[in-house]
Amino acid sequence: MKYNIALVPGDGIGPEIVSAAVEVLKAVGDKYGHEFVFNEYYAGGCAIDKFGEPLPQETIDGCLASDSVILGAVGGPKWDDVPNHLRPEKGLLAIRKALGLYTNLRPAKIQPALADACVLRPDIAAKGFDLMIVRELTGGIYFGERGRNEKGDAAYDTESYSTEEIERNARNAFEIARKRKGHVTSVEKSNVLETSRLWKETVHHLQETEYPDVKLDDMYVDNAAMQLVRDPSFFDVIVTSNMFGDILSDEASQVTGSIGLLASASLGDSKRGMYEPIHGSAPDIAGTGLANPIATILSAAMMLRYSFDLGEEADCIENAVNKVLEAGWRTKDIAAPGDENWLKGSEMKDKILAEI
Ligand code: NAD
Repeated sequence: MKYNIALVPGDGIGPEIVSAAVEVLKAVGDKYGHEFVFNEYYAGGCAIDKFGEPLPQETIDGCLASDSVILGAVGGPKWDDVPNHLRPEKGLLAIRKALGLYTNLRPAKIQPALADACVLRPDIAAKGFDLMIVRELTGGIYFGERGRNEKGDAAYDTESYSTEEIERNARNAFEIARKRKGHVTSVEKSNVLETSRLWKETVHHLQETEYPDVKLDDMYVDNAAMQLVRDPSFFDVIVTSNMFGDILSDEASQVTGSIGLLASASLGDSKRGMYEPIHGSAPDIAGTGLANPIATILSAAMMLRYSFDLGEEADCIENAVNKVLEAGWRTKDIAAPGDENWLKGSEMKDKILAEI
């Protein structure tokens, strides 16, 4: 099969980590007989420098014409003082909108080889966890009506959700659960919020009518925040609103202790998604060779699994990463204090390639 992949490396360490993911994808393509065709586009600060705007039309058109998109990261101090509408992050929001992406996937997984980095009690970390947060990305309180009174001493934000917005996001969660352990936890605050009551009703209706094979349970968001540190092994897929997902996904990624290893994806109605590491452009280490490419390589694995339905090929990449970590290889960001035998990013990529 032939797949067209749009690459948007962006700024800082973006180009280094995206090119590492490309090499890994090429190796997987050779092994399994797929042709991955790559086309590169500008977004973020580098696009401001070249085109005077953070998301040129050429990039939008190239991404829309592709089967899927891999993004590095955008931004850096060079563009901190540009006018607000030109900020590199505007390019990110605009690209999600242009591609119609409304669900964000954030896995949080403890790598057994890195259990020591987990901030949880050793007996909890020893149980391991592997969960996926499915967050609604384009609705809710972040996009609702807001304002202040005339005096400016009172303010309001509004949360609003339609059944359509809830349902399309939940559908993605159920589909993903079918590719995992088949268990969805819907996180809301239906004891207080009307939007949460609609959320709960809608998710249950969808499960009963279309996904009876997937186990569904409900949890209040305050309890979910607690369970993520008490017993994260309970969770498989968490589906939740924009604000709750924003908070819980940062909590979940931090408890793993290895933010440089975490991938993410944004999905919409089509199979096309945008896959990117959760970290930023790390301008402090750009060009030094220190950037850890694993989060971007694992983002490429997510693309194979969720956009191209290539589960075996995705497993191949994830297993290669696990083997390299289990063998004790580390980049500087994940090396134990005092361990000076860490690898540069390109050396880590070569170790992973050798396991493909
Ligand atoms: P950051 O994630 O870029 O860096 C935080 C720290 O983690 C730094 O010390 C950095 O060196 C380190 N780090 C990050 N990724 C690493 C990797 N792969 N390997 C080794 N070390 C790594 O966050 P920040 O410093 O707050 O932001 C820097 C820039 O990135 C800002 O301009 C910010 O707006 C932008 N940013 C972009 C995105 C995105 O494109 N999705 C996300 C977050 C931040």
